[in-house]
Amino acid sequence: MVRELCIIGFGISGIACLRWAKEYNIDAIVFEKNSTFGGCWHTSSYKSAILQTRKNSYSFSDMPMPDSFNNYPTRDEILQYLEKYIDFHNLNQDVYYNQEISNIFYNNSTKLWEIDIQNTKSLKFYKVKSKYIAICSGFYSKPNIIDLPIKNSFNGKIFHSKEFSFTGQYDYSIFKDKKVVLIGNGPTGCDLSCAAVENGAKSVTLLYKTDRWILNRYFLNIELDFLMSRFFINLALKLPTSLFLAIFYVIYLIPRLYYKIYYKLPNSKINRNNVAVNECLFPYISEKKIVYKKGLIKSVDKNTIILEDNSAIDTDLIVMCTGFKQGTHFFDDFNLNILYKRIVPIDYPKCGFIGFAPSFNWVQNSDLQSRWFLNWIKNDKKVSRKTMIREIIKTHKKHNELNLEYFDLSYTPIQYLDDLSKDLNIDIEKNYFDYKYWLKAPAYNYWS
Ligand SMILES: Cc1cc2nc3c(=O)[nH]c(=O)nc-3n(C[C@H](O)[C@H](O)[C@H](O)COP(=O)(O)OP(=O)(O)OC[C@H]3O[C@@H](n4cnc5c(N)ncnc54)[C@H](O)[C@@H]3O)c2cc1C
Repeated sequence: MVRELCIIGFGISGIACLRWAKEYNIDAIVFEKNSTFGGCWHTSSYKSAILQTRKNSYSFSDMPMPDSFNNYPTRDEILQYLEKYIDFHNLNQDVYYNQEISNIFYNNSTKLWEIDIQNTKSLKFYKVKSKYIAICSGFYSKPNIIDLPIKNSFNGKIFHSKEFSFTGQYDYSIFKDKKVVLIGNGPTGCDLSCAAVENGAKSVTLLYKTDRWILNRYFLNIELDFLMSRFFINLALKLPTSLFLAIFYVIYLIPRLYYKIYYKLPNSKINRNNVAVNECLFPYISEKKIVYKKGLIKSVDKNTIILEDNSAIDTDLIVMCTGFKQGTHFFDDFNLNILYKRIVPIDYPKCGFIGFAPSFNWVQNSDLQSRWFLNWIKNDKKVSRKTMIREIIKTHKKHNELNLEYFDLSYTPIQYLDDLSKDLNIDIEKNYFDYKYWLKAPAYNYWS
């Protein structure tokens, strides 16, 4: 039997896509390689993970997160919210869990997608055909495991942070009485360093190579989510880098002097790759419970890490907080730099990538991208290849000036969704005289 739409993955993007496919009366089926929903919130997050974004910007357009949740929900709250959403829309009946897509191929003569699937339990392979395909398999798909230069055998444990997820091997009790070194100062490295302190580690060192902006969710009791509003995003975008840096260096002086922590700040504007939000790191560093150290590893000799500057750190537990690599092994012909509207590959108009334009408001993004793509296939939209290319080049040029990759929405998350909603004829409220329009991050249902 040929299905109309096959959706790969049932994380936030797959959930949004199936929900809207039902609304548009599109016959859709989901294949998910895990045994449950939630994607990276199930397989890559850790117990103490807290959303970096405020909940209002991280909710589906037809269901806010409950008032009882924290403004910055925990991992468990996010999974509860997703479960409620799936139940409310009765989505599970069209999802096949434990089914991994191994290859997809567009057959030009039949005009159908041919999808190879493996049942991860029985290990049997089978094929499904569909008219359209939605790739919701996650931007960050594979753990980025670095090759440590181990000289003599290391007697402790080395593992990636994903081992603290629901599918991992460890929990925080592993920190007890250990000399812990965490590699990488992204959100995960910062959070897990604090978790190591709070779970009885003997010593904690957060080792990093890239300078990073580390922000608080609150400053003097004021929530900093207004930094995600139209006004501030546009201001940050327009300010010359030198002025931006001068302003932020001054703002940063306050916490640095207060906590007496002196480390180098980045020399580029805040973007998706150089920022982390964390409240406990600075206090722990100033109390000397965490050593925050910049350096490259030269070698690991027995239980000592030697850095390029020849300093040494004793350790019996190394956690790689080195993030995830982007990639989609089942689709060779895959290039994020040539997606029209960051969704449709110019050579495959019957395919859509949902959730491949990283931003701070991922749920809003996947929700609207799903509606845009389903509208695209439902109305069988035809845009010439020339027009697609012209638009892609225009955006590339803009992003080059900003030193951002094409698909990165660090500075254009609102503009991008405004643009998609325009294509969908969604009448968004543009009250230029209302301060909320300029100074608040758009609400969960702004683009509905
Ligand atoms: C700890 C943590 C904190 C975060 N904080 C924020 C935040 O504050 N704000 C924000 O905007 N974003 C945040 N993110 C980013 C997060 O990645 C996105 O918000 C979002 O969850 C991505 O959802 P997704 O469905 O696109 O991808 P994923 O969650 O990766 O889901 C993809 C799904 O596809 C499945 N899949 C993959 N390959 C196959 C295959 N071959 N066959 C079948 N199924 C397959 C996977 O098993 C998975 O279930 C955070 C992520 C983590 C881990």
